[in-house]
Amino acid sequence: MDPYRLPRHVVPSRYDLRLEPDLATLTFRGEETVAVTVAEATDEVVFNAVELAITEATIQNDRGESLRGVPAMDEATERCRVAFPSRLAPGGWRLSLAFTGRLNDKLRGFYRSSYKDASGATHLVAATQFEATDARRAFPCWDEPAFKAVFAVTLAIDPALTAVSNTSVVAERREGGKKVLAFADTIRMSTYLVAFVVGELEATDSVLVRRAPVRVWCVPGKLRLAAFGHAIAVTSLRFFEAYYGLPYPGDKLDLLAIPDFAAGAMENLGAITFRETALLVDERAASHTELERVADVVAHENAHMWFGDLVTMSWWNGIWLNEAFATFMEILAIDAWKPEWRRWVTFGVSRAAALVVDGLHSTRPIEFPVRAPRDADAMFDVLTYEKGASVLRMLEQYLGADVFRDGVRAYLTQHAYANADTGDLWAALGKASRQPIPDVMDGWIFKPGYPLVSARLEGRELVLSQQRFTYLPEPLDGAEPSGEPGQRWRVPVQIRTQAGGTSSVTRLMLSAAEARVPVAETLDAVVVNEGGHGFYRVRYAPELLERVIRRLDDLAPIERFNLVNDAWAVAVAGLASLTDYLDLTARFRGERDRNVWSVLIASFHALNRIVEPADRPRLAALVRDRVAPAFAELGWTARPGEDELTRQLRGDLARALGTLGDDRAVQQEAANLYAAHVAGGREVDPNLLPALIAILAHAGDPARYDEFLRRFRAATTPQEEQRYLYALAGFRQPELLRQTLARTLNGEIRTQDASFVARALLTSVYARELAWDFVKTNWDAMERQYPKHGLRRMAEGVVALATPELERDVHAFFRERKIDFGGKTLAQYLEQLRIAVALRARDGVALSKYLARFR
Ligand SMILES: [Zn+2]
Repeated sequence: MDPYRLPRHVVPSRYDLRLEPDLATLTFRGEETVAVTVAEATDEVVFNAVELAITEATIQNDRGESLRGVPAMDEATERCRVAFPSRLAPGGWRLSLAFTGRLNDKLRGFYRSSYKDASGATHLVAATQFEATDARRAFPCWDEPAFKAVFAVTLAIDPALTAVSNTSVVAERREGGKKVLAFADTIRMSTYLVAFVVGELEATDSVLVRRAPVRVWCVPGKLRLAAFGHAIAVTSLRFFEAYYGLPYPGDKLDLLAIPDFAAGAMENLGAITFRETALLVDERAASHTELERVADVVAHENAHMWFGDLVTMSWWNGIWLNEAFATFMEILAIDAWKPEWRRWVTFGVSRAAALVVDGLHSTRPIEFPVRAPRDADAMFDVLTYEKGASVLRMLEQYLGADVFRDGVRAYLTQHAYANADTGDLWAALGKASRQPIPDVMDGWIFKPGYPLVSARLEGRELVLSQQRFTYLPEPLDGAEPSGEPGQRWRVPVQIRTQAGGTSSVTRLMLSAAEARVPVAETLDAVVVNEGGHGFYRVRYAPELLERVIRRLDDLAPIERFNLVNDAWAVAVAGLASLTDYLDLTARFRGERDRNVWSVLIASFHALNRIVEPADRPRLAALVRDRVAPAFAELGWTARPGEDELTRQLRGDLARALGTLGDDRAVQQEAANLYAAHVAGGREVDPNLLPALIAILAHAGDPARYDEFLRRFRAATTPQEEQRYLYALAGFRQPELLRQTLARTLNGEIRTQDASFVARALLTSVYARELAWDFVKTNWDAMERQYPKHGLRRMAEGVVALATPELERDVHAFFRERKIDFGGKTLAQYLEQLRIAVALRARDGVALSKYLARFR
């Protein structure tokens, strides 16, 4: 018998579920009646349950038969098997169960979250987080996405509290000192989408979208931070109704900010839960980056109401489509809402992150067979979200936006209230486009990696060739190579040629190893991956590259982004020289796009991790040489009418100069501005303020540390809290860094954040040795305290331990402790670490020589 898939001889169709959480004793009691269909006669019923005590199990039918069963829990398979004294005949039955459980502190299942009010008193909220397989911790259920059912939830709570679930309250009464709230029936949906939240909650007024009232909820005192999230919730819900051509499937939509939340947000139908930073924000005090985060996450979750909730993957291998599609739709919705944010250009940064991981031998195909649900845990990564969304965008651009949308509409209509697979979406898109979608897509979805497209001129022909891009020539330590030798893709390539003053675009499908395109004799320049949507890298022959660089102004920002990003990757892979890349960065001193700057600055950070400590001041001087001219042009003060992206760029450049560039003048001015700001004497642009805090931490002393610690504790918005929290990882003195490390475990930092702070410390060149020692010493304690994916996220920081000694130690530790994060996660971290150490070994001397000219 498959230990991961429930037998299908008994299938549920409806749950009448009553829960009574007690926030004082941190326990809950539950009763449920599940309407089931017995398909073949049986004397046992098997469903999922874990960390629950099932105290009663009976089953009845309409023919008057009633049997008492004996429940037996199997904690290993997270199942309960109820044995009955005689066989149940095929047909409809009602299974009634009574059970108890604990409100845990692990941020999954039915859990408790806490917060302090203005007087310092602690309050509790009970909340749920079920995806992928934790509904079974709150109530016994058939906890697989294909067992869709109707849920009728009743919550019996303390009358002083409020409760929210997936649907509207249809009845409220008092019963033995309890407030009993009955919620309307849900649509037919999967267990992982059920939710309930109980606490002292406050809500905004509702705004109607068609017939559904939309509200934002939070703990008391934070409603003033709800307006922006509310606005994008309403706007994006309307956008999706129009795009999908289907009404929102719920009867209301509540968005709830939970003080402790492990992920970013969760798309429970009608009751979306968020961590506070992803929903609550003070629009006037937030930076562009902070606002974009809220807008993205809200739009993403709303997109799931149809794609994920109305139509759901049949099994966890389909997670990628769920998440990739919601990510794609999130960008589409935000781009329509605020075109001035140029969200598809910013998306280049996300695509670049996927290109990094997918350039490893230890990458994986986007979709792979999943047997155990825990293998699906490893799917919540950059390949699922960002590579997945990138290849969907590539497909949308190739088919045309309207055809793509028509296919999506047909898919949703056909599979509403049911389950579907990748093949079903391809079939719908194939019908809409009359194109063989699997032919194009299979290589991107079911095979690992992506191509490097090399471009060169031969006479009057442009020659394009493809080969798989990897950073290292061989997999690490004799690991099996992923993919097959000579792997090729069907690459939809767009080329823009500039000849004799006119430009023209050519589209072609590069399927073979090589393709030849005739070009005019008067050719000036060629841009491959025109428009920047392709999920591949481009390497130009030196002579072609020089032509492109000479006409940088003719390139769109996303094309300049790709040019720098690909040049950096090719240098890291040893396919071009590092010093050529550094020369290239000098050509971007006049750049004004913040995405292009983000890749330049990220590459300087990467070099900072491999440079010899003695050369660090010279690297700082190089950073000043590259960044200072652009910052000087922008100045410290925002100009009237300046757009949001330029303001954010000012913050990014200041931060790079004041930290990585160690620019004393910038640090001094940052201190002056910050002092004036906190004294209330001078308003600092919200896009600059986070940079000032980071700079002052970098240049800070113990007094500054104590000040920032106080401000972290007294923060009045989630964003302010995060700025000061991460600043505590940005100091350079060992004794201060030790304090921050201790705080990742002593309860002062919420467990939802602690693993990320520890990761930040691992990636700091000033903290990494200390942090690595701390992590090794406290591994078990971290494992106990952090939520489910906490250790996996924290351990990503090892990619920055880029010295040969640390690398050896990292390998020894993980081998000795037999650490496994599921999937290929650990292998990917170790390969990224090797790439950095290999770059240091190969190009360290050349880098040192190059830097000698900077001071
Ligand atoms: Zn999602």
